Amino acid sequence: MQAEFVEPLLEWYYDNARDLPWRRSKDPYRVWISEIMLQQTRAQAVIPYYERFLKRLPDLWSLAECPDDELMKLWEGLGYYSRARNLKKTAVLLTNERNGTFPRSADELRKLPGIGDYTAGAIASIAFGEAVPAVDGNVLRVMARLKEDERNILDQAVKKEIAADLINEGPEEPFRFGDLNQAFMDLGSMICLPHEKPLCEECPVRSCCLAAAHGSAGRLPVRLKKGGRRMERLTVFIFRDGEKIAVRKRPERGLLAGLYEFPNRKGTLTADEAIRYAAENGLFAVRVQALPAAKHVFSHVTWEMTGYEVRVPGASGEKDGFIFAEPAEIEGNYPIPSAFAAYAKAAGIRVGAIKNKGEDV
Ligand code: SF4
Repeated sequence: MQAEFVEPLLEWYYDNARDLPWRRSKDPYRVWISEIMLQQTRAQAVIPYYERFLKRLPDLWSLAECPDDELMKLWEGLGYYSRARNLKKTAVLLTNERNGTFPRSADELRKLPGIGDYTAGAIASIAFGEAVPAVDGNVLRVMARLKEDERNILDQAVKKEIAADLINEGPEEPFRFGDLNQAFMDLGSMICLPHEKPLCEECPVRSCCLAAAHGSAGRLPVRLKKGGRRMERLTVFIFRDGEKIAVRKRPERGLLAGLYEFPNRKGTLTADEAIRYAAENGLFAVRVQALPAAKHVFSHVTWEMTGYEVRVPGASGEKDGFIFAEPAEIEGNYPIPSAFAAYAKAAGIRVGAIKNKGEDV
């Protein structure tokens, strides 16, 4: 049976929906690209990336044929690069096997690379009108507060039960599920804000919210994590020969696979060790200057970095996997993840034209 909060939430959404470029069409390609970009980045920050991406790659066919380095460049700054690789894999698969069409159900969409429960639900409900929820952090937060649900939302079983409840309690007309899913997204990012900050006075579903009635919204939802993040120390080198700086390609598998980086080594090296490292790589260091420490947090590991700028005259050209190139060439051709942003800045290189909140695998 349709829950009490559904109608006021939908009405509020029809009056207040954010004007976002991907909402101007129900084209599954556009819904898909936007949902993948939105997985780790706020909507306002996604807009310029989305518009640039769609301009260059307007459909599955152009995405399937896009060279990898160009795709990485388009994705630079959004982070979690495996998402871009999965986009291309899916585009290749759909153009080869389905003549460029998407499956219409969440169950079928979930079988595609990089499409999990949330994205499958979002595409199926928004583009194809299927009665399925798209359960992300916003939905879990709002639902936990509406029902004053004290269970751990990081527990997969709890998440599944909340999704099942939504199927039973969602709009009677299946085609309105897409709107409901987007209404949750908007309510969660505009009004039912995380931590102690929900704007209950402005909330359209306040009259049916148990957490608001009992003053418990600030401590909900409950999120209990298992394990934690490991820490890795890294020494990063800006090897400079005149205007040219050394970069190298990362391995094709693992963290930040296939992107480019400044040469680096595990551990915190002293200046003498930095000179030795240069020599081991066939470079003759004439000046070493310490750079400020930097930190980058990934989902499962934190890099604690130290760095050196090392002058290595006579090193230009490709050397032992190092590519010496001028900053503009690096910006144009060698995608460098923002994990190295502090050292890129020291080298006068911009990593990604638009900043966001972080990058990961
Ligand atoms: Fe969230 Fe407050 Fe609205 Fe409840 S009343 S859904 S806690 S903003």
